[in-house]
Amino acid sequence: MTEENNKIALVTGASRGIGAAIAETLARDGYDIWLNYRSNHRAAESVAEKVRAGGRKCLLLPFDVADEEAVVVALDPLLDQESPYILVNNAGFARDGVMALMSRYDWQSVLKVHLDGFFLVTKLVVTRMLRQRAGRIVNIVSTSGQTGVGGQVNYSAAKSGLIGATRSLAAEVARRKILVNAVAPGFIETEMIADLPVAEILPTIPLGRFGQAQEVADAVAFLCSDKASYITGQILSVNGGII
Ligand code: NAP
Repeated sequence: MTEENNKIALVTGASRGIGAAIAETLARDGYDIWLNYRSNHRAAESVAEKVRAGGRKCLLLPFDVADEEAVVVALDPLLDQESPYILVNNAGFARDGVMALMSRYDWQSVLKVHLDGFFLVTKLVVTRMLRQRAGRIVNIVSTSGQTGVGGQVNYSAAKSGLIGATRSLAAEVARRKILVNAVAPGFIETEMIADLPVAEILPTIPLGRFGQAQEVADAVAFLCSDKASYITGQILSVNGGII
């Protein structure tokens, strides 16, 4: 950790799945956690218990990352007191379906959670990081945003957009020693992929298995560590070898 007095990591969408693994891993690395989620209080509380059992603080922050008023109400007062050294933009969901049948709602809600969510949370946090001249931002994107996947035009567009935002923001804030990267998971065993056809997908993954949330969390922790001090504007794939 670069600054001893600045040990907070804000992780969005951290009540379950990949976000929960990221929060628990960063807590083990010595960070207090600001744990955002949307509505699953019980799951969020169970992650918080694990963080606290390891000796770190955990603040639960339930809000919709795509709702500007909710983001400002939750984060502004906290950010006036102290600022996270790490921000992980992980909150998200998919609404899959072929484009010919896709509703405007499914298009917009997926773009909103990934792109508006990134913009609204990051804008507030990066302002403070710029003043401190330190910080790490990691955006969770997807293989789908790199290669394109049929049935995910909305999700691929959102994640591709987030890849572009990652590179541009990295260029913008590098002089203030803020490093911005993305991690691109492939198929990771969480509730998000519970309904996918396993037998069809496995042969497309060179390592022949789905990934674990912990394997994504370890990549995020690396990008947030002093070992990644010369890495910014990059997309790190954690996908079992999908090209
Ligand atoms: P998940 O198990 O479904 O968990 C999603 C998390 O995001 C939950 O904590 C949920 O909160 C939160 N969330 C959803 N919408 C939100 C909103 N509007 N505001 C705040 N929080 C919100 O999903 P996951 O598989 O861990 O996915 C996490 C991230 O990885 C997503 O960005 C996803 O696109 C990306 N990803 C996943 C995979 C995969 O194979 N699983 C692959 C590539 C990329 P509640 O619990 O309160 O609902």
